[in-house]
Amino acid sequence: MIIVMKPKTSEKEIAKVKKKIADFGCEIHESQGLNYTILGLIGNTSSIDPGVLMALDSIEKVIHVQEPYMKANRLFHPEDTVINVGDKKIGGEDFAVIAGPCSVESEEQIVSIAKEVKKAGANFLRGGAFKPRTSPYSFQGLRDAGLELLKTARQETGLPIVSELMSTEYLDRFAEDVDIIQIGARNMQNYELLKEVGKIKKPVILKRGLSATIEELLLAAEYILAQGNENVILCERGIRTFEKYTRNTLDLGAIPVIKKYSHLPVIVDPSHAGGLWWLVEPMAKAAVVAGADGIMIEVHNDPANAKCDGQQSLKPEKFASLMESLKELARIQKKII
Ligand code: PEP
Ligand code: MN
Repeated sequence: MIIVMKPKTSEKEIAKVKKKIADFGCEIHESQGLNYTILGLIGNTSSIDPGVLMALDSIEKVIHVQEPYMKANRLFHPEDTVINVGDKKIGGEDFAVIAGPCSVESEEQIVSIAKEVKKAGANFLRGGAFKPRTSPYSFQGLRDAGLELLKTARQETGLPIVSELMSTEYLDRFAEDVDIIQIGARNMQNYELLKEVGKIKKPVILKRGLSATIEELLLAAEYILAQGNENVILCERGIRTFEKYTRNTLDLGAIPVIKKYSHLPVIVDPSHAGGLWWLVEPMAKAAVVAGADGIMIEVHNDPANAKCDGQQSLKPEKFASLMESLKELARIQKKII
């Protein structure tokens, strides 16, 4: 249940309503919008008669929420959420371009790619230090050393860094070292991990699970939001279907659907969706037009010898020419790259 207070309701009146809700035994989450204060009720609301609440003068309306997620729900937070990452923003008018290799491999590799993607217009650098590989015998990432190299690349370029956290064991390290924590598709339903990243304020990119519905993705986001971290960015990265020509099926429809039901920013990862470098350009363009708030693209200086995901990585020149098209499309969508 969601309670929308009348505009300009005083703190005192809001406190009165909160007291009433607490008497019903419900927990309250408050959202302070531009014009409205919204109170979200968590707990058993079935015995609450909305008429009793409506009798209070300060309440504009009482909404029964059908969806099982509350803080991620647009009803709770009607305006788009905009997430600040240093002096950059994700969501609203700003279109985020996150680019970089699948994995950090060496200082020379990550620094040179960071410089190239920055020159082309990317505003964030990605790079995996801890890699979730299907086979335990595949390259697992440079781990701690990889994080150090990402920090060097950030120092050299000023680009904020995005990297995947796989275990709570490294939470403090990531909270300290990276600018955005990525939770990968395989960990979208690792609820203990989600709860822990919910306890810090660091922005989180939450990638859609390989077989997750949109509702499951939003409920995973709810785990983070419920703990108090409101800086969640959702990422559509393709889902598993019967189709074999593509690594995953990019669910473009998920973008407008998420935007309708949630206020959280949505980015698209066309690299892991298509799984082939030549699919990245059309899918990235489509993502902009479908209303995404950003994209995450794998770029490698030597894809043929990449330790991970070379087949889906763009060379820096290709990325630079794609950026030119994306800037034009973003303009049409009234977004700024
Ligand atoms: C990645 O972005 O490096 C990655 C492993 O992606 P996903 O979790 O979407 O498979
Ligand atoms: Mn990858």
